[in-house]
Amino acid sequence: MNKFYITNAIPYVNAKPHIGHALEFVQSDAITRYHKILGDDVLLLCGGDENAIKNVQAAEEKKIPIQQFVDKNSRLFQNLAKKLNVHFDVFQKGSDAKHHSSSKKLWKLCFGNGDIYKKSYTGLYCVGCELFYEKEELNVNEECHEHPGKKLDKISEENYFFRLSKYQSKLIKLLDFDTLNIVPEFRKNEMLSFLKNPLQDISISRSNKRAKNWGVPIPNDNSQRMYVWFDALNIYQSGIGFALDDKKYNKWWPADLHVIGKGILRFHAIYWPAFLLSAGLKLPKTIFVHEYITVNGQKMSKTLGNVLDPLPLIEKCGADALRYYLLAKISPFSDGDFSEEKFKEAYNADLANGLGNLVARVAKLCEQKNVNLDRVRENHVNGLLEEIKTPLEQFKFNDALDLIWGHIRSLDQYINRERPWKKDLSESNQILSNIVVGTESLIALKDIAEALKIFLPETAEKIEDQFKCPKIKSEKPLFPRI
Ligand SMILES: [Zn+2]
Repeated sequence: MNKFYITNAIPYVNAKPHIGHALEFVQSDAITRYHKILGDDVLLLCGGDENAIKNVQAAEEKKIPIQQFVDKNSRLFQNLAKKLNVHFDVFQKGSDAKHHSSSKKLWKLCFGNGDIYKKSYTGLYCVGCELFYEKEELNVNEECHEHPGKKLDKISEENYFFRLSKYQSKLIKLLDFDTLNIVPEFRKNEMLSFLKNPLQDISISRSNKRAKNWGVPIPNDNSQRMYVWFDALNIYQSGIGFALDDKKYNKWWPADLHVIGKGILRFHAIYWPAFLLSAGLKLPKTIFVHEYITVNGQKMSKTLGNVLDPLPLIEKCGADALRYYLLAKISPFSDGDFSEEKFKEAYNADLANGLGNLVARVAKLCEQKNVNLDRVRENHVNGLLEEIKTPLEQFKFNDALDLIWGHIRSLDQYINRERPWKKDLSESNQILSNIVVGTESLIALKDIAEALKIFLPETAEKIEDQFKCPKIKSEKPLFPRI
């Protein structure tokens, strides 16, 4: 059994989750389910990035104690995952004492290797990104590209620095030879071009005052707290026992896959491997970088007031309807858009009509013809799982679903061609068995249900249940039209 350790990005828990979080949750979940079907021993981790300054600021605004604030918000993220049928084997909170001690160990390893030193520093800091920027990286108004309209803070203080510059050539080699594989290619090239300029050492601490006494304390210096990215990235390790449970850590580390959004690539492709190299630890293997989801053609933002909460949609149409839209209609490698109109259109066309209609039609025919499904599926090779392997290994969920929907249409055509309702009992029994159970050349309903377990787990289970017993009956539609 191969182990497969996959991580979802660790969300900031300064507000409740939005549809962009739902997108990443279902992408991570689809990859997890696919690897389980392959027979891998899989662990999916997520967590709460709780030590960020913006959490402290948000808690202050709401006049809630910070711990209470992050606990509450972390639960909202876990609740969204549950509602989407996404199961995190581990949800590692950043404010957890064990995570603190694990992160101190990482610090000590880098410090012991001579890669951490103290110096006075003045720089422009974006609290939204939790990142110091060089002037050249900002727009004409001296704002960062992720948070236009927001002035950066000018910070002057004595900080601990990490010798990132020391790892420049190692990092170039890592990415160039895909030792650390970044998917898609254009994101890898973006990092390689960033690495063409000399890397600056980075500040990895802040004063207690600026941190408002929140975050992981620095070992042997109680005037400073860790820079939030230094500990947040370590959630990938602390959650599986780094410096806490060697047996568990050695089983799962390194991560086989980090799933992240494009906005945090630099932290994952440059800072993170540098910290690990410095600490003498193994490096993650692959980073899958997805793009963003816009709402009605606009980037979601608090100022625009268009931050979309996915929960009402799930309540109304079910988890699988949203999972379908996010996986089938949002391209992983270019920004995708969500609008109620587009959602409704996809739902009615592909789920109510396409899949739902086929299932209802076949069940009805089976019921009318009193079909007895006695054909066995032992040694049956599901050709559809083979077909979707290539797009799935490239994280092209939309392409995989296109292939599946192609077979849904083919089955409809097969029914129209064979007209089982016009045939005598034994012939119609034969045709309907082909449709449900399959033949060597026909991808059948059961093959489709098996493949759908990766994407629409609830629906897949309902189809399997409906066509399990020898006597098949019509049931209420899988996706009532909206
Ligand atoms: Zn920013």
